[in-house]
Amino acid sequence: MKDMIYLDNAATTKTSKEVYEAMKPYFDEYYGNAASVYRFAGESTKAVDDARLIVADFLGAKPKEIYFTGGGSESDNWALKGVAFAKRDKGKHIITSKIEHHAILHTCEYLEKLGYEISYIDVDENGIVKLDELEATIREDTILISIMFANNEIGTIEPIKEIGRIAHEHGVIFHTDAVQAYAHVPINVDELNIDILSASGHKFNGPKGVGIMYLRDGIRIESFIHGGSQERGKRAGTHNTPGIVGFAKATEIAKESLEKRASYEKELRDYLIDRILEEIPYTKLNGHREDRLPNNTNFSFRFIEGESLLIMLDQKGVCGSSGSACTSGSLDPSHVLLAIGLPHEIAHGSLRLTLSDENTKEEIDKTVDELKGIVERLRNMSPLYEDFIKKNK
Ligand SMILES: *Cc1c(COP(=O)(O)O)cnc(C)c1O
Repeated sequence: MKDMIYLDNAATTKTSKEVYEAMKPYFDEYYGNAASVYRFAGESTKAVDDARLIVADFLGAKPKEIYFTGGGSESDNWALKGVAFAKRDKGKHIITSKIEHHAILHTCEYLEKLGYEISYIDVDENGIVKLDELEATIREDTILISIMFANNEIGTIEPIKEIGRIAHEHGVIFHTDAVQAYAHVPINVDELNIDILSASGHKFNGPKGVGIMYLRDGIRIESFIHGGSQERGKRAGTHNTPGIVGFAKATEIAKESLEKRASYEKELRDYLIDRILEEIPYTKLNGHREDRLPNNTNFSFRFIEGESLLIMLDQKGVCGSSGSACTSGSLDPSHVLLAIGLPHEIAHGSLRLTLSDENTKEEIDKTVDELKGIVERLRNMSPLYEDFIKKNK
């Protein structure tokens, strides 16, 4: 779309041109089934094998520890159910946090219905998981700790290495939903004590509908999809060869450019944060000021409905996201914003703007300028704001 300013890269990203070009031949030229034996299919088999090598190398893992899946939600479902079903004789207690993605939280609710017990750990006002509470919650029958690497709404990066260390000291498996972090911050599964990890292609300029699960060698979990013998018999289904090639290509690009890209995005991010906090009164930044994703910003504007803000921004060509779950047809404010202690009315007035390395300073300036006008207009229509101004005269 012409003149659009896309600031919703936490929701999804553009598939990069190089990724798209790398995928193309696997649709119409090398369309063989990667599981077939003739030489023509060998091109597909080789592409999947090579992709596995690239991803494994990127995470400091072995190729046989990488499983290709249908995306982040699938990897999260598999990690939780796979461990829950395989370890049910040891115990049925799982620990997670209050700020996880719904792919984790709704899977936990499902497991609760099957008789599992889930503990949801609190976070502090910046969204950092409380480590003392986490450790105190571990029991004899705890089989899994699942804590996200970085939060998709407020961008806070969790102390993953510490969480992994605590899990391992108690003999518990540690899974992390790294969908927002993979290819945005460096990850080495050994250094960070990670046993299972989820990532998704479309969150880092790869294709949609393809993801990975890293599973540490020696940890046994149940298969997710039953059928053919693909993915070591654990995840059946004909390989999505173009998708897998695209995932690997995007990983390769990230490996070369991660640092440069992150520092560019951070600069833009901090510029956006500074301008908004300085120029728009009664505004708060949500999430940790330093330990946050290079491309994430999340603000609460008092006396404002996030929904109205989004619609008016859209009219100016800016794509953002509301911190509240209203966008998905629910009127409840975001569970993440409530967990960091925001009152309902403030959580409702939140806005997430997430950047890419294609965004420019001019786009940020235009967005802030529009936002200032919109916030002012909305506040002038707000009875709450009127009361507030009267009281504070
Ligand atoms: C996007 C996202 C998911 C879901 O990934 P899909 O590939 O869209 O299924 C899971 N967890 C987090 C943190 C996400 O941001």
